[in-house]
Amino acid sequence: VRLTIAENVAVRALAHPDRPAIDVLGGPGLTYGAAWRRVVALAGAIGMAAPGPHGRMVAVLLDNTADALLAYLACQWAGVTAVPVNSRLAAPEVGFIVGDSGARLILADAAHADVASRAARDHGAQLVSVETIPTPTSVSHPALGTAGRGTLPCVVGYTSGTTGFPKGALYSNDHYLTALMRWGWTFGLTDDHVMLVPGPLFHLSYAGLSLAALCIGARVRIMPSFDAGLALDEFSGTSTFAFLVPSMTGLIAQEWQRRGGPAVAALRFMISSGAPGPLSLTRTALRMFGNARVCEAYGWTEGGWVTFEAKRDDTLLAHSVGWPTFGNEVGVFAEDGTPCGVGEAGEVGVKGVTHFDGYLGRPEATEAAWRNGYVMSGDIGIWQADGRLCIVDRKKDMIITGGENVYTAEVERVLHEHPAVLEAAVVGLPDDRWGEQVTAAIVAREGAMPDAGDVQAFCRERLAGYKVPRRIELLAALPRNPMGKVQKFRIIEVLTNGPSPRAGG
Ligand code: ATP
Repeated sequence: VRLTIAENVAVRALAHPDRPAIDVLGGPGLTYGAAWRRVVALAGAIGMAAPGPHGRMVAVLLDNTADALLAYLACQWAGVTAVPVNSRLAAPEVGFIVGDSGARLILADAAHADVASRAARDHGAQLVSVETIPTPTSVSHPALGTAGRGTLPCVVGYTSGTTGFPKGALYSNDHYLTALMRWGWTFGLTDDHVMLVPGPLFHLSYAGLSLAALCIGARVRIMPSFDAGLALDEFSGTSTFAFLVPSMTGLIAQEWQRRGGPAVAALRFMISSGAPGPLSLTRTALRMFGNARVCEAYGWTEGGWVTFEAKRDDTLLAHSVGWPTFGNEVGVFAEDGTPCGVGEAGEVGVKGVTHFDGYLGRPEATEAAWRNGYVMSGDIGIWQADGRLCIVDRKKDMIITGGENVYTAEVERVLHEHPAVLEAAVVGLPDDRWGEQVTAAIVAREGAMPDAGDVQAFCRERLAGYKVPRRIELLAALPRNPMGKVQKFRIIEVLTNGPSPRAGG
């Protein structure tokens, strides 16, 4: 008998039905017993609407609620594949994913009824609204163990499509389950943890961690939408575990400072991941979350989390994402495929047992994702002498100016050190003479008015001349996606086409 993720959670529900499983902040809570009854109800509705063999795709379009998490389990229980859809997408974008995945069923809530019904109509899919699915007061004990399900698709997570159309990254049951177990083990997830989920459950990282928590018997607390003040309250009183993207940590830190830096008592473990964060933010997190282990994990949708570091004041290193985690092989490779030595920049890849299984229906993209047996990340990394990996840029963001490579994260790190700069993103704009021009978009700290000349002088003292931004633009905020990642393509658009206020000087 081989248990899938859903069956592992079923076992928890049998073992301790009255234990709290899922709360939605501001809403009702579910015990493991109640959560499992909901899974069975959702699975029943899916099964009725989409009878058929394993492998049938079901698009899931829900707000951040208990159903958004339980739908993953319900799809597994019904023997179909979950296709979580970014709930902020517009109708044509949802339509693309429904069409591309071949989903014949869309599970949606009232908040997305319009968008979902358009996609359903355009692609001949059936729409099932979660509000119409009643939860039974009791369910019979499940028969556990599904032979041969391990290699079947479990979930398809769509990339955000910043470079072309979104692609569906597919994980088999075995790979997703093994990934969750590794994350749980690496991050020290135990059944006494209360995990805050401040980000979107349609993203495989938040979904995977939350499912790992349920597999282990821990409690999950879902935030319908991110709120820094509420998160700080949670970490002070209830939640012991959280994965935060740096933009969230930054907002929580502002709130913490506004409140006068109170002790944060409950939080015991915090992982930062998803985007590079400035060193100053890690320092603040270490002070703010003094009772917690403040950690960094690095990974990407197709590779999973592959490195980890528990941060310490005395060993802090800019851009470090720590050491490779157990069970996988992390490599850094030069353009010609040879492994890079310490200090040499190359592309990061991973070989192991928990990465994705390929892009749905895209053999060419799948083939291109692998090089010499490694799933490639598109990120530029550099090994340190102590075995840590530093991520200095994404390959596509690296700027080549006058033949020199400029890693944008390095310039951003220096900009973040400027006292008047709250946030910074560095992009390359086309330049007739140099090929690309190093350009910085900055957001001012509250009450500060950064002067472009002064910021440039600050950079010149700390960076080689060719890395210093030739142009500095002040923006009210940096454009970000729902995972808090800066959307550099949008900054380039604004700086190339749109009028934007210039920084003084
Ligand atoms: P898309 O969906 O368009 O592919 P994406 O690449 O941002 O967008 P993800 O797979 O969610 O989608 O993001 C992974 C990327 O996030 C990594 O490739 C890396 O660039 C960045 N990243 C993740 N963790 C860290 C970290 N700890 N430090 C620095 N960068 C990180």
